[in-house]
This record gives sequence, C-alpha cells and structure tokens, in this order.
Amino acid sequence: MTLMTPDQYEASLRKMKFKVYLQGELVKTPVDHPIIRPSMNSVKATYALAQDPQYEDLMTATSHLTGKKINRFCHLHQSTEDLVKKVKMQRLLGRTTASCFQRCVGMDALNALDSTTFEMDAACGTKYHDRFAKFLLAAQEGDWTIDGAMTDVKGDRGLPPSKQPDPDMFLHVVEKRADGIVVKGAKAHQTGCLNSHWILVMPTQTMTEEDKDYAVCFAIPADADGITYIYGRQSCDTRKLEGGDIDVGNKQYGGHEALMVFENVFVPWDNVFMCGEHAFSGMLVERFAGYHRQSYGGCKVGVGDVLIGAAALAADYNGAAKASHVKDKLIEMTHLNETLYACGISCSCEGHKTASGNYQIDLLLANVCKQNVTRMPYEIARLAEDIAGGLMVTMPSEKDFKNPEIGKVVEKYLQGIASVPTEHRMRVLRLIENITLGTAAVGYRTESMHGAGSPQAQRIMISRQGNLAEKKELAKAVAGIPATKASGKTPR
Ligand SMILES: Cc1cc2nc3c(=O)[nH]c(=O)nc-3n(C[C@H](O)[C@H](O)[C@H](O)COP(=O)(O)OP(=O)(O)OC[C@H]3O[C@@H](n4cnc5c(N)ncnc54)[C@H](O)[C@@H]3O)c2cc1C
Repeated sequence: MTLMTPDQYEASLRKMKFKVYLQGELVKTPVDHPIIRPSMNSVKATYALAQDPQYEDLMTATSHLTGKKINRFCHLHQSTEDLVKKVKMQRLLGRTTASCFQRCVGMDALNALDSTTFEMDAACGTKYHDRFAKFLLAAQEGDWTIDGAMTDVKGDRGLPPSKQPDPDMFLHVVEKRADGIVVKGAKAHQTGCLNSHWILVMPTQTMTEEDKDYAVCFAIPADADGITYIYGRQSCDTRKLEGGDIDVGNKQYGGHEALMVFENVFVPWDNVFMCGEHAFSGMLVERFAGYHRQSYGGCKVGVGDVLIGAAALAADYNGAAKASHVKDKLIEMTHLNETLYACGISCSCEGHKTASGNYQIDLLLANVCKQNVTRMPYEIARLAEDIAGGLMVTMPSEKDFKNPEIGKVVEKYLQGIASVPTEHRMRVLRLIENITLGTAAVGYRTESMHGAGSPQAQRIMISRQGNLAEKKELAKAVAGIPATKASGKTPR
C-alpha cells in the first residue's frame, strides 16, 4: 500500500493511542475533536490529491528505492525537477486548503537526514545511513505522515544546552542501553504532530562536545509510551465549537501545533540516526532548514493565492473593484506573492546532488526565500485588510445573522452591491479574517516569521553564503585596484 486513500489515512489515525491535552482536558479521539479535525482534513488532502489523476505528476513520484509510485511527501528528491515539483505541489495544497497542510516538515527532515547520515557514516564509521534507509522504505511503503521535530523549548537562549539550569530544556539522551537509548525533554510548536504516524526528532542547533548528549536524532511512533502532547491555542479556535460555518472562515481545513513532551522515552537503536556525533548536528540543522525555507516559497504562496482572491471578491462585493487604488493593491499583492514563488522555484532550479544521491536546494537562495517570507505575507495581509474594510473585525456573528428577530436587520445593513447576497460578503470577510487574524494566521503570518527559523537565522546564513570577499574582488577588478587574493567562488 504505497498510496493510502484518504479514508485509510483517517482510519490509521483512529488506531493510534495519542495522549493529548486540549484546554486542560484529555482528548479521546483527536480526529473527532471539532478543534482538531479541520487540521486532519488538511493532511487528508495530501492523500486525496495524490489519488487524483489530474495531480499525479505533482503529488506522486517514483521511489528511487523500489520503483513504485509513492506520495511525493515520502520521496527523496532525485533531480532539480523534483525540487521544483515539490514547490508546485505545496502551492497546490496551499490553494486547496488555505491553511498549513503539515506534511512538509517530515519530508524536509527525510531529505536532510539522507545526505547527513551518509556523510556522517563516511566520516565517523557509523552505520546510520542503512538504518535510515530502512526507515525511509517503511515510510514509503506505509505512506506515513511524519512530524519533523527540531525546535527545543530552549529555556535561556543565552546558554548552551549543557549549561541550562534545567537540563531538559533541550531534548537529550539520559541513558544508553544495549537495546537503545532513553530520551527526555520537549519539542515546541510541533506542526501536525497529532496527524502524524511517526516523529523524526532532530537536534535544534549546532552542538559542541560538551553538548553531545543533545546531539541526538531518531524516529519514533507518534503515539509511543511516554510522549504527551499539549495542544496549542490558536486565535479564534473556539469558534470551531460553535457548530456554525460562517464565523470560522474556513470550516473544512486548518493546521495545528502542540508542545510534545518526552518523559524518559525508549528508542531502539534501529531507529537512532545520530547519537553524540555533535559535529554533524549543524549539517543536519542547516540542510533541514534549507529545505524548509524552500517549502515556504510554495505553501505560503498557495495560501496567498486564496487571500488575494478573497480580497478581490471583497472589493467586488462592496462595489469598489473598479477603483484604481484597489486594482493597484491587488497587483501589489500578486507581485509580492509571485516574488515568493520565484524564490522557491529558483532555489530549486539551482539545487545540486549530494554525496548520498538526493538533491539539495541552493542554500543562499532558500534563505533569501524565507527572509522574504518573513515580510511579504505581512504586507499582503495588510493590503487584504485595507481592501476588506473594517467590517472584517466588527461584523455581527453568524448567530445574529441567523436570528429570527435581528437576522433581517443584519442582512439589510451589511449588504454591499445589490446582486450579491449579504451572506457571501460575510463569508469572504470571515475568510480574510481567518487567514490574517484567526486560526489560519498561525500558518500564514507567525509561521512565516518564525517557522524554519526566525529572521535572524536566515541573515546569518545569507552572510555566510553571500561571499562578500569575492564581491570585493569583483569591484577591485572593475575599479582597477590590484587584487589582494584569488577570487574564491565561481559566479552564481
Ligand atoms: C506556526 C509554527 C509552526 C512551527 N512548526 C514547527 C515544526 O513542525 N517543527 C519544529 O521543529 N519547529 C517548528 N516551529 C518552530 C520554529 O522553527 C521556531 O519558532 C523558530 O526556530 C524560533 O524559535 P522560537 O519560537 O523558540 O523563538 P525564540 O528562540 O524564542 O526567538 C525569539 C527571538 O529571540 C531571538 N533569539 C533567540 N535565541 C537567540 C540567541 N541565542 N541569540 C540572539 N537572538 C536570539 C530570535 O532571533 C527571535 O527574534 C514552528 C513555529 C511556528 C511559529
């Protein structure tokens, strides 16, 4: 079964025994909880679209291990064409769900781990790559959704892991046994963890010799004993408990994050892919982050497509669509959105083969992509709010609209152009609210800022990759100043 149907996917989640708290209560069946279910629907879309012949080329790929057709989310990129298709697939899913569809983090972790375990084995004589290849094969055969767990809670940001007053601020090995390791700690902001079959745990930053117990990477079933999830609140999340379908803005789809706590969790050696090789923690983090910064040039653009469409509809519905400034704002939104896409595509086209054989994006361009993502969705959201008007945040509720006494009053006074029902205007304004300020804003705004690393993390990479020394030599050559040293890098 290399391609699960959407129903098989949902059924597979029902069998899992997650321990999850949401608003202080244990949740029995996450897939049926009204706050969680829309996020499951978004992941389900990654299975549904893979069954659709129309999207076969983007949503599926041929496994380099078995030659079978697999979901692209389980694929190792075999070419720059694969990297480009990944971004296009993400845009497609963003357009379909208008939310975070959560399956990218695992795909990016798989690709980063393949090349890192290969190079680590070559340097250290370890046997991680073969173990990883077995895990990858199982993931492809089972069509698993995998959570990529990198971010530690980190306590005092000014201190390294081993100097933290509480040693559990970064996930670490507390015991090494003949059959495996025992780990403790917590991972923050875990996207789609309760919609995942497995978790790939990675170190959060470059580790030193002193921090080698924190240089640990492994795979574990998402419902393993000792793992507790504490579900993240989202703005306006309890609207999903109200049972309506206008005020939620996006009834069907959503995303989720949770705090994932590991309390002395056992991991068999077969599933351990790094344990103490601190010198390779930085490589893994950098490669994962590179892939993930590429991802945002697809997923956020897809959500941006929906937001631009919603803003254009809002203008149609209130009669302002012909105003030149409105047209210009929609052009600007499109320009910004396509700039992000151009970055996602370009870092893919400029990718290269790694020593293990899969393809890596161009790191500089991927970091430029994500740096733009920390800004441009905010400007797109600002312009959408401008076009939407104040009603997107002052509008009476769906219950008022449906109330037999005052419903007609709401309908009359919220009418825009006569040919469009008030309800349609309400729906599109709620959608804009959802993406810019509500549950989907987690994915569209704050994840654009911090997901795959806060802005400064990209600036550090841009400074490392930008090759200023070479640029100075170029300037010297043109200005007639003698070169002080040979230029280090071939032109991009
Ligand atoms: C919606 C969302 C989804 C996410 N999904 C995932 C996921 O699926 N998996 C995953 O592993 N992670 C995920 N993340 C985590 C993401 O990678 C982190 O948010 C990001 O790395 C920033 O870490 P932080 O949130 O702890 O911020 P902080 O570390 O608290 O950063 C806050 C500010 O402090 C600055 N800062 C922090 N440390 C230092 C320092 N040492 N020196 C100088 N400045 C510093 C930062 O630059 C930033 O400006 C997600 C985040 C979000 C918001």
